[in-house]
Amino acid sequence: MAVLPLRVTPDPILRLKAKRVRAIDSYIKKLAEDMVESMHAYDGVGIAAPQVGVSLRVIVIGIPDEEIITLINPEIVKKSGERDVNEGCLSIPGYRGEIKRAETVVAKGLDLHGKEVRIKATELLAQALEHEVGHIQGSLYTDLLENMDKLHKYVPTEEKEAD
Ligand SMILES: [Zn+2]
Repeated sequence: MAVLPLRVTPDPILRLKAKRVRAIDSYIKKLAEDMVESMHAYDGVGIAAPQVGVSLRVIVIGIPDEEIITLINPEIVKKSGERDVNEGCLSIPGYRGEIKRAETVVAKGLDLHGKEVRIKATELLAQALEHEVGHIQGSLYTDLLENMDKLHKYVPTEEKEAD
């Protein structure tokens, strides 16, 4: 496995609509493994392939203490409710923003064996699914900000986080 270099804004790959994966071959399996390692190295809750320079529809999500999810060609098939969240993105370092996300999300996609999976999620997993599926569509959470006052500079130290 390898940690892949991270793409950050304004890298144009982050704005492309990623291509559908046609076959889950050894390249895709290796990519997914490297994405998991990269997600951990960068301390993220999820990562999408465009963030590591590959414009394909592959996402991985690792909620602390839960099993890692890899989804190929993921889609959000249902969303309900609305809630305020504070969101950040590895590709937009140094910022966090207040946006609205769905309360409940149903996503579907393929696992690494090519089997269709459907995930019904709430809370952080729902947020991560919407966030990562956004990436493969070329959108970023900052697109959902009502105005720029909702975007804050963020210094990731415990001391600063407290206030
Ligand atoms: Zn992101």
